[in-house]
Amino acid sequence: MQVTLLGTGDTTGTPTVGCDCDTCERARERGVERTRFSVHVERASGESLLIDFSPDFRQQFLREAVPLPDAAVVTHVHFDHLDGLGNVYRLLDSLPVYAADETDPQTGESVDETVRDRYHYLDRVSVHGRTPFEVFEAAGFQVTLVPVVHPPLVSYGLRVDDPETGASLAISGDTSYAIDEDARAVLRGADLALVEGLVHADLCEHHPAGGDHYDDEGVPRTFGTKHMTLTGARALADDLDADRSRIVHTAHFVPPERAFADDVAVDGERFDLAGGADD
Ligand SMILES: [Zn+2]
Ligand SMILES: [Zn+2]
Ligand SMILES: [Zn+2]
Repeated sequence: MQVTLLGTGDTTGTPTVGCDCDTCERARERGVERTRFSVHVERASGESLLIDFSPDFRQQFLREAVPLPDAAVVTHVHFDHLDGLGNVYRLLDSLPVYAADETDPQTGESVDETVRDRYHYLDRVSVHGRTPFEVFEAAGFQVTLVPVVHPPLVSYGLRVDDPETGASLAISGDTSYAIDEDARAVLRGADLALVEGLVHADLCEHHPAGGDHYDDEGVPRTFGTKHMTLTGARALADDLDADRSRIVHTAHFVPPERAFADDVAVDGERFDLAGGADD
């Protein structure tokens, strides 16, 4: 299983348009970036699965030269994860898109219903609802969605298993630290875990809702109510016990010495997962 991190940034990305903060300047100097979130996963057979449709889809596929996907999963309906779907127009003859089928009390619709409504005019895209915790097949992978915590909207993490090699990938999705144990159990023990960490914990002071889910040293693992701090991301990565883990969805508000720490991903990272992680 080859995993390519197409987009590792938050909703404005790094560098952010019009921003000359130290982190954006450092990214420009180094020629690295964190575009909006998306992950490409390819099997040895060449079939591939896309996780989330970044608004930066076109640039990401040109840059990484990975094949166009045979199927895709949408984790939640925020702009930075869904609004790139229109890019598939005239590129693909057909594309099944999978998303959770639970009704979101906030919108009165499930993720699959919202995706279908917004992109009804793309007749080559078919949208399929899938029930969290139930394994389904997509592009030859076995995929399991799990609910995470990203109020006010429903949001999902997922596990992707390659049935041929046993390789596995876990993605936290956009979430606070308050992920239930039954969801964590599905995500645990993968070859690679991608965990979201938006900002460093000190910034919680400046969030109207502050921080939450404090660790033993009193450091918040949740920023506000819907994202993890870098501390939270590291704690979750620890708990998920993957062979390797990378922090994703990181914002330019993190100062450069922390934003470019060894465990924080940038676009274009690639992982060849052979399988055989301890469960
Ligand atoms: Zn900036
Ligand atoms: Zn989100
Ligand atoms: Zn996001």
